[in-house]
Amino acid sequence: MANEKVDVVIVGAGASGSVYASVLAKAGKKVVLLEAGPDWQMSDLISSEMWGRRIRPAGAPFLLEGKNPFGYAGQAGWGVGGAALHYFANHPRFLPNDYKIKSEHNRALDWPISYQDVAPFYDKVAHDIGMSGDAKAEEKWRPAGQSYPMPPMKTFRHGEIWVKGFESLGIRMVPAPVAMNSTEFKGRPACIYDGWCHVGCPTGALANPTVTYLSEARKAKAEVRALCSVTRVLTNAQGTKVAGVEYYDEKKVRQVQEANVVVLAAWSGQNSRLLLNSATDKHSKGLNNSNGLVGKYMMTHSIAGINAIFDEDIQNHLGTIGAQYMSYDRYGKTSYKDAFGSTYITCGAAQKTHDFANTRPDLFGPDLHDYMKRAARGFTRISMFGEGLPNIENRIELAATRTSSACRSAASVTASTRTRSRCGMPTSKRGRRPPRPPAPRRSGWGAPPYRRPTCTVAPSWVPTRPTRWSIALVSATSCRTSTSRGLAYSRPKVPRIRPTRSLPCPCAGPSNWRRNGPQSRGEAKKMPSSGALHGSRVS
Ligand SMILES: Cc1cc2nc3c(=O)[nH]c(=O)nc-3n(C[C@H](O)[C@H](O)[C@H](O)COP(=O)(O)OP(=O)(O)OC[C@H]3O[C@@H](n4cnc5c(N)ncnc54)[C@H](O)[C@@H]3O)c2cc1C
Ligand code: SF4
Repeated sequence: MANEKVDVVIVGAGASGSVYASVLAKAGKKVVLLEAGPDWQMSDLISSEMWGRRIRPAGAPFLLEGKNPFGYAGQAGWGVGGAALHYFANHPRFLPNDYKIKSEHNRALDWPISYQDVAPFYDKVAHDIGMSGDAKAEEKWRPAGQSYPMPPMKTFRHGEIWVKGFESLGIRMVPAPVAMNSTEFKGRPACIYDGWCHVGCPTGALANPTVTYLSEARKAKAEVRALCSVTRVLTNAQGTKVAGVEYYDEKKVRQVQEANVVVLAAWSGQNSRLLLNSATDKHSKGLNNSNGLVGKYMMTHSIAGINAIFDEDIQNHLGTIGAQYMSYDRYGKTSYKDAFGSTYITCGAAQKTHDFANTRPDLFGPDLHDYMKRAARGFTRISMFGEGLPNIENRIELAATRTSSACRSAASVTASTRTRSRCGMPTSKRGRRPPRPPAPRRSGWGAPPYRRPTCTVAPSWVPTRPTRWSIALVSATSCRTSTSRGLAYSRPKVPRIRPTRSLPCPCAGPSNWRRNGPQSRGEAKKMPSSGALHGSRVS
């Protein structure tokens, strides 16, 4: 079925699709956004872990392959707002050194633009969507720019407690810049610090696309069509120009949306899949792929965490899921002796029960009970976000599997991350998981391998162990720490399951399942296992 031709069709109503829609619709273009997931409303967002699974990635499956497979679980979104409906709203900037990595370190490539080219847009976005922070404080690391439209967010004991420790190691911490309201902003309320941002902020205090650019786009008459999965970009007969896209609507009926311009904003993995899937006799390797580089050099950031339990009640449930404090003091590419790449440090994210439960999957029964009681009051963590370098082996390509008519083919993501391109966390020279350190009786321990990375795609594990400075940091905090046995770093022996997800691929069941999951046992029986669809395996 063909729809009326439009100026622009945008695939994906997430973080980037919403910006394109707003700018183009306000410029008078006729814009249609095709979104694979539901049209979430603010009233759909519920502060519950179980509910929050519904807004996590769905859509066509990815098979994960390679020596160190990328994780694929939490790093995309599904439905209007995309991943930015449930993101953490941290907005650190790249620094000038990121653009000159080739000239300064002879690695990767320099960007064709510089920090100065991008800086005005950082400031513009901060004022468009509403950001809180202290720009002056950040300017010890970056060139001066505009101040944020709102003062920094409130801080709480579980973030403040780290600051003295960092200072004693010479690491300067400043308020983290976040896209959340410390005060009322453009009619949206100030944050209430209940820490449920990661399942979608129901108050509008967090700047997700539905309350920022997408809302502006709708006011400017952009049309959003939810539950419409795009499968291919179409070209004219000569293969010289895009003609529109093919998609399957809520009833699984094939449709064509003709357009003068097609914008792919379905996130990096899906964009590559769509281009490769759009091969024709004129473009045998896929669209825009004459150089064979579509899907190659997939990049990611890693996350490493160091956990601690304090004896006092540090009110770890309060605040936001974004950071309270951050530091660029280890951002230099060669900050660590045996690793290369920048590290961005944060502390003070609000904790929920599953956060500290996840850190000790080796505990059961009374031990777990005891741990949870103490963690509920005293658990906190710092996080380090590490940089990756481009590597041609890290790639996405189409797999032979055909899963349904609406998913033309599964894509497979292969990763074999090189040691030197890992994050700036110290790693063993062999580039494998670092040897387990002798079990100390301390209250700081490395987070178990992080398998639910938060950005684009990330390694399914990152080397996390207490480093010399992180252990020193725990000891140097202003508070007495617990010395209970069993809190030392330990590598739990649990099955590795990747990736895990709770909802079926939307292509797999009738449309009402997409939103609500199976409604009865009968429906559940008919549903293919998510493992079969999404390449889950246990190793
Ligand atoms: C838990 C979490 C925490 C994060 N925290 C931060 C943070 O603190 N700071 C930060 O800067 N970034 C953070 N990110 C990353 C950030 O959210 C993403 O980088 C960003 O949302 C990517 O934008 P996008 O438009 O490319 O994709 P998305 O926002 O994911 O949007 C893509 C949209 O396209 C739709 N789609 C996919 N395939 C199709 C198809 N075939 N047809 C139609 N529609 C399709 C999807 O349903 C989705 O809605 C976080 C991400 C997650 C998951
Ligand atoms: S802590 Fe603030 S930003 Fe997060 S969900 Fe609550 S009100 Fe929204």
